[in-house]
Amino acid sequence: MEIVKVDTFPLLYELREPYGDANGWKKYRTCFLFRITTKDGVEGWGECIDLLPTLKIGFEERIIPYLIGQNVYNRLEIVKTIKKWHQRAATGISMALTEIIAKNANLNICDLWGGAWKNKIPAYASFQSYTPTQEWQKVSLNRVQAALEQGYDKVKVKIGGKSIKEDMDHIEKLQDMLEQKVLVALDANESYDLSTTKQWITKLNKWNNVMWLEEPMSMDQVNDYTILRSMLEVPLAGGENLIKSNQFISLLSEGGIDIIQPDTMHQEGIDQMRHTMHLGRSFGIRVSPHCFDGALSRLYALFAQACLEPWSKMEGEEVEPIEWDMMDNPFSEIIPIKPRRGQITVPSELGIGLEIDIERVEAFQWDGRHYIE
Ligand code: MG
Repeated sequence: MEIVKVDTFPLLYELREPYGDANGWKKYRTCFLFRITTKDGVEGWGECIDLLPTLKIGFEERIIPYLIGQNVYNRLEIVKTIKKWHQRAATGISMALTEIIAKNANLNICDLWGGAWKNKIPAYASFQSYTPTQEWQKVSLNRVQAALEQGYDKVKVKIGGKSIKEDMDHIEKLQDMLEQKVLVALDANESYDLSTTKQWITKLNKWNNVMWLEEPMSMDQVNDYTILRSMLEVPLAGGENLIKSNQFISLLSEGGIDIIQPDTMHQEGIDQMRHTMHLGRSFGIRVSPHCFDGALSRLYALFAQACLEPWSKMEGEEVEPIEWDMMDNPFSEIIPIKPRRGQITVPSELGIGLEIDIERVEAFQWDGRHYIE
């Protein structure tokens, strides 16, 4: 199963209006897709993210020359070699090779991984809550309201990018709107220290619809997470930027976390991602994959979640949700799959079970122009 061709598709979209979180504004969305073809004509798609010129040169001058002639069945060795050069490119390549191997075995990805435990996975509507306007709270509430009208019953909004007072004002208004009937996660993107996070405790413990508090502090402050967890009545979640499974171990073994959130694109390949998810389960911990950047990565998160043994026997609680990007992003629709009333049906056809929307890919091809993310 020799690789004979790699086609790349760098995609760029300039947002009509910036949006953001505590990490700053997003003015562009980008996507770097690629298609690996074998001598027998079997194709597999991969996806990664970085500045597009970096990926273009990296693929053209190093990664593609290395891939040509490789045997796809040496997936782990290939991924290990490429991750030394570019971790996220290696992750995308692990996706493409997994698809090719599944197709060659006449299997769906879930079948290849031992079978899906469930064929529907819940999704939560994920927002970037800040916009560069005085009216940002109103804009945020309107976006959440639109998601509720589409049938979502779980949402995630941002905190940590404004003063505590302003963020609390936003969340109070949101809670009034939700009437505590819809689950809500608050994501601070590692904005606070322990004493600042503590200012949220009274409110968080008062509400009964908080799905989790996400990354209030830097994820390496394990001791502070353990202290905070003992004071909170809502779950603590995090880990989207951790690359290796072993980076989760201290959080898990020292009781610092309730829900781990590995990201397909940030882990060292889809195999490593699944390993991390199983690690969480082995500690009896919930797993909710983070997947904001990239529709293909999100599809693999969906497959991985479907193949993860249920967390609990409690009705309605046995499957943790995956993230669904609700913001202006045309690349969300490159893969023709969407939640219906907050639930996604896991594709069961050959390979990834879906066709990439190649017309959309071609419509957003990056023209090589300079841009700053
Ligand atoms: Mg987050």
